[in-house]
Amino acid sequence: MQRRLISSPKDFYALWRVRACEENSLREQPFPAERLVQAIWQHQRLRRGELRTLDGKAVLVFHPGFINFEGGPDFRGAVLQIGGDAPCSGDVEVDLRIGGWRAHGHDHNPNFQNVLLHVVWEDAGTPAVARKHNAKPGKPVVLCLKNVLDAPLDELSLALENESLRSLPENLRGKCCAPLRELDEGKLSGLLHPAARARFENKAAQYRARARNAGWEQTLWEFLFRALGYKHNAWPMQYLAEQCTRLLASLENTPAGEMVPALQARLLGAGGLLPAELTRVQRSSDSYLRRAWDFWWRERDAFSDVILPRVAWRFHGMRPVNHPRRRLALASHWLADKTFIPKIENWIVAEKSEGTSCRELTKILQVKHDDFWSWHLTLASPRQKKPQPLLGEARVTDLAVNVILPWLWVRAVEGGNKKIQNEAERRFFAWPEAEDNSVLKLARQRLLGTSNAKILKTAAAQQGLIQIVRNFCEHSNATCENCKFPELVRGWAATRSDLNRTLKRPG
Ligand code: SF4
Repeated sequence: MQRRLISSPKDFYALWRVRACEENSLREQPFPAERLVQAIWQHQRLRRGELRTLDGKAVLVFHPGFINFEGGPDFRGAVLQIGGDAPCSGDVEVDLRIGGWRAHGHDHNPNFQNVLLHVVWEDAGTPAVARKHNAKPGKPVVLCLKNVLDAPLDELSLALENESLRSLPENLRGKCCAPLRELDEGKLSGLLHPAARARFENKAAQYRARARNAGWEQTLWEFLFRALGYKHNAWPMQYLAEQCTRLLASLENTPAGEMVPALQARLLGAGGLLPAELTRVQRSSDSYLRRAWDFWWRERDAFSDVILPRVAWRFHGMRPVNHPRRRLALASHWLADKTFIPKIENWIVAEKSEGTSCRELTKILQVKHDDFWSWHLTLASPRQKKPQPLLGEARVTDLAVNVILPWLWVRAVEGGNKKIQNEAERRFFAWPEAEDNSVLKLARQRLLGTSNAKILKTAAAQQGLIQIVRNFCEHSNATCENCKFPELVRGWAATRSDLNRTLKRPG
């Protein structure tokens, strides 16, 4: 079928491409691959007026949702109208067949609770199965795509082969994308700067409120721990930080060399993260565990009321280097070092160039050596050939812009120290960009119309964009319903242009 699309025999590359696509499709079992079905859904290559669920309800797709590469459904935040129900926003899961819902465990996974529509390639030709599926309460309705494509499958395969699921189709961009793309670099940064400042001050206000109850140092520990927990384990980490005074008590006379192992045992023990069984595979891990239990078994009863249940943690989809055990091991080094907070306070006072101040903070936060965790990613992993840092540079930036600088700033504001206040602010706005993440990736495409990460040159610009997402996108839906941001940007840009014209006018 595709061959007739090739206009001339000289068009050899088109022929290669068709052949490659045909061979790929022969190799792909079953065909089409799930990725292609996802791309068809994302680009809505469907006869959109004919969509019906297996039980006959009409489906209107106002927005197919945003592709999700983390745990959970394939598309988040779709806007759909199913049958006579009012339009609503929810998730969409894509599988090749209906049976995928159970086979992949979605029926028991709380991440899938908000799935409105189960999109499948085919219903496996058994209407009875389909009816049975739709009859069960709590299951999303099913939409089969096989018979509602807007073009033959091999043509769609060719058209979508190079479309990365990560790039948002042009027609799914936000309504603010047009006015934002009209801004030049200077104006865009003029817009992101105050948004970043709002985010910075908002965090600082949160730290001030906590410090009024818990004191400045305790507040710093709690928010450092939270940041080490990333988004999934922020709360159990915060809980452990709240127990720090108690967990540190009675360790004053511990010999210096024993302090870190003792703290690791207490934090892992109180976190419910010390396995009761030895690995019996990794000798070094078993020595580490035996030593930790030597500390913990004597203390466990005294701390029994603070031990976290294991269900408080989320480990699914986590990279081993980010595991809370490694993070708690790192935090134990910080807590064992009585000069840790004074070092941070001195860091902001010392006048340093940008690069030097980042390196100096990395030196304070990075731990030179841990007997076990520098060599192991997890308790079960073999000893690494090279030592692995307990904290990467990306995480240092995250801790600097989200915790340390707002904490230093608000403490200086409260203490009336203008010099430190200005310096914390200056470093925040000059800090190099942080590692990319899924929120930024989507926001760049949806709001700024580009997947190029370099458009945001500083961590503050990234923070500004995230703040806009929090203030506007999260109060609207994927179709940008009732969002005032585009209009605000247009008005702001017009005022700035008028102002510039007035300033340039001679005389
Ligand atoms: S919801 Fe508002 S801020 Fe978000 S993409 Fe749509 S128009 Fe832009």
